[in-house]
Amino acid sequence: MSKIVQAVRGTRDILPEEGSYWQFLERTTHEILSRARYQQIRTPIFEQTPLFERGIGEATDVVGKEMYTFTDRGDRSITLRPEGTAGVVRSYIENKLYATGGVQRLWYTGPMFRYERPQAGRQRQFHQIGVEVIGSPDPRADVETISIATTLLKSLGLQNLHLAINSVGDGADRQRYRDALVDYLAPFKDELDADSQDRLDRNPLRILDSKDERTQEIAQSAPSILDYLGDNSKRHFDRACELLTQLGITYAIDPRLVRGLDYYTHTAFEIQSDDLGAQATVCGGGRYDGLVEQLGGKATPAVGWAIGMERLIILLQKLDRDIEPSVDFFIVSKGDRAEAQALELSHGLRRAGFTVELDLSASAFGKQFRRADRSGAVACLVLGDAEAESNNVNVKWLATGEQETIARSDLLERPDEWRVRLKGEAEVGSP
Ligand code: ATP
Ligand code: MG
Repeated sequence: MSKIVQAVRGTRDILPEEGSYWQFLERTTHEILSRARYQQIRTPIFEQTPLFERGIGEATDVVGKEMYTFTDRGDRSITLRPEGTAGVVRSYIENKLYATGGVQRLWYTGPMFRYERPQAGRQRQFHQIGVEVIGSPDPRADVETISIATTLLKSLGLQNLHLAINSVGDGADRQRYRDALVDYLAPFKDELDADSQDRLDRNPLRILDSKDERTQEIAQSAPSILDYLGDNSKRHFDRACELLTQLGITYAIDPRLVRGLDYYTHTAFEIQSDDLGAQATVCGGGRYDGLVEQLGGKATPAVGWAIGMERLIILLQKLDRDIEPSVDFFIVSKGDRAEAQALELSHGLRRAGFTVELDLSASAFGKQFRRADRSGAVACLVLGDAEAESNNVNVKWLATGEQETIARSDLLERPDEWRVRLKGEAEVGSP
């Protein structure tokens, strides 16, 4: 026997048993985003490497250490996208989405790739859902995106989530703050973790979200960026906070929540879960008024967020809630004629809108009945030689065990009545 080729480290298969959680997440997302009139955009999974260097920034971990970059057969430097925003903004500029005027409300979903140390809630291929609102400088846009994130998480039934929010001001505010921060941190340089020492010159704001314990301790007493905001930035932040309060969305201000790069402006936010251990952040977002210009477009304000789907799936699985779509009929059959009729019946019932599982095993009725019980179906339809002969079908209601024999054509002639009966029986069957 030859050796088995295994999946690449940091990737995982999403097996059928997990599928219903993904579908529930995707269904709920589609519904909530379409209610808010966001439109889906699908951009390529790989892009030219400079897009991410300019669109995320060379001083970040993502670009500095985590990108899957390779040279293709045409000698181009290609990178598997580590996040969604850069590609969306590239597409916005390249396809002149601004030409229609007004605000673009976009969303995306799909796999992202980062070369990180794999652990629970952290993989090398993972999935995100993200939104980008491009073309509005209004704090209402910031709050709209946050409200959509919280509505989504709530609709999924998730609890123990906390929203943290901050402002990183504009370029001038940040320059002033950066100087004050470096002044504060410089005397501690030797005590900072290696990455943070490195960042002291290049990207000192990122030191604030270092995961190193001693660095965090030092950062606790660092000056707060909120004390360095100009009037315009202060107004934007106060307004966003006020609107969140008005919407009844609970938040905490965290002056250490930052984005390190120049094109991030004003609002930065994160949603964390108490139930995820070390990888607690499920949603990260904020305003990036400088990015469109940075990528070669006309200066255009924008705000967005990204949610890590694997982390939501972990949370959904912990809820232990029944999210399987219900099965209406499980069909068992035995004998040549009956088996053909059963196949035909399953075909007709599905076309009529029922959910139907057909047992293909041709095993003894007893075995098929046991599978029917495990299937979660509301009713079992039984076709044996006698039913095939008489053009009947036996209906067994699985919650009560009650049975009745009906004409096979009845199911397709009066589907609405059967739908009502199935619904009634499903309620009998539910705990
Ligand atoms: P972290 O601090 O956890 O590394 P990040 O700041 O790198 O997160 P973002 O780039 O803001 O994350 O991405 C948004 C969300 O995507 C994160 O909050 C998280 O839920 C998810 N995410 C990011 N990286 C990974 C990964 N390697 N595996 C799984 N999910 C991830
Ligand atoms: Mg990361």
